Amino acid sequence: TGPRVLVVGGGFAGASFARALKREDHGIAVTLVEPSGRYVACPMSNAVIAGLRDIGAQHFGYGGLEAGGVVHVPQRVVRVDAARRRAALADDVVLDYDRLVVAPGVDMRFDAIPGYDAAAAELLPHAWKAGEQTLLLRRQLEAMEDGGLVVISAPANPFRCPPGPYERASLVAHFLKTRKPHSKLLILDAKDAFSKQRLFEQAWAELYPGLVEWVSLSFGGRVTEVDASARTLATEFGSHKAAVANVIPPQRAGAIAATIGVADQTGWCPIDPVTFESRLAPNVHVIGDAAIGGAMPKSAFTANAQAKTCAAAIARLLRGREPESPKLINTCYSLIAPDQAVSIAGVYEPANGLLAEVQGAGGASPLDAPRSAREQEAVYAQAWFETITQEAFG
Ligand code: FAD
Repeated sequence: TGPRVLVVGGGFAGASFARALKREDHGIAVTLVEPSGRYVACPMSNAVIAGLRDIGAQHFGYGGLEAGGVVHVPQRVVRVDAARRRAALADDVVLDYDRLVVAPGVDMRFDAIPGYDAAAAELLPHAWKAGEQTLLLRRQLEAMEDGGLVVISAPANPFRCPPGPYERASLVAHFLKTRKPHSKLLILDAKDAFSKQRLFEQAWAELYPGLVEWVSLSFGGRVTEVDASARTLATEFGSHKAAVANVIPPQRAGAIAATIGVADQTGWCPIDPVTFESRLAPNVHVIGDAAIGGAMPKSAFTANAQAKTCAAAIARLLRGREPESPKLINTCYSLIAPDQAVSIAGVYEPANGLLAEVQGAGGASPLDAPRSAREQEAVYAQAWFETITQEAFG
């Protein structure tokens, strides 16, 4: 029998990895442990929130992986003995492995903002994991009276999908402009700068004049406490009463990472940038949002790129060969309107033990571009979604 690789988590990172490793070497036995039979993708879920897309378009199954020879075990990994190379599942089954790949995504830090715990998220959704939370925020916007204040609060770096809160703001602004034109959107930010900032600000000024207000950290943007039942968000500069509040809290690697011992005191997982092997446990690799990707942002594009790099490295390691130093690419598209998008791209390579951005290799959409260019990018965004989900899930 061939070597055994066990994958924890069937999101963009874990699913892409499992398929890529099978393509690298069909003789490796690849088992994917993922409790859910249906993955709900976050990219494009902001369009669901704005009423532009059906949640069904976000659903993916594991049939494509199984057809490619990956074994899907619908369970949760609860413990790992890294010295003995074995993982225990919630149903007490124990699986042995030669290499373990941990891809659990993120968990919300429900201890970071006083008043914002898991129960509060049922009233003030984060909608930062797609599914029920996405639909809850959608329903709240739909039910809101015209003239209400919508508040989105964004966390400090690092967090899943750096341009995501601002894409969401753009599409919510579109919804308000067309459906509830007396309403306002306030973004409370725990940062002084954000991804594609000038592009977003230009879009808001042009497409949604007077509707969107962004408050930076220095001007009281950081939410210090919430009262979920009153829908109030306190900041150092005063408090805001929202009709609908979308609180995106700080995050950390999915809980299993800390249980296994691959997360450090930051809550994220330090890795070797060539093999994605954990700095804290041998034969355990971490990919996707859970990993500290150096300069690489936490995105589905990144998760897929890291998955393919890690699969190539593990295939070589298991055959006693040296892994090759990689170059990885990330591109993030963001919709600024239903049919318009902007993008940012970067290239990354190992440097000083981290993934560093290759200077001069990336770039963002030009400012002041004609509408046709933005429309073209929205077509690319949709094509990208189809390609990435096809690569991950088949
Ligand atoms: P996930 O996709 O979260 O997958 C983790 C999986 O691990 C889950 O299925 C979970 O069930 C499983 N798991 C967790 N713990 C265990 C355990 N103990 N045992 C077994 N399984 C476990 N990225 C882009 O590139 N482009 C975009 O346009 C984009 N838009 C976004 C918009 C929004 C609103 C949001 C929130 C995110 C967006 N992203 C986008 C980011 C993207 O969704 C994430 O970066 C990506 O999902 C990370 O993949 P992952 O596999 O690391 O984690």
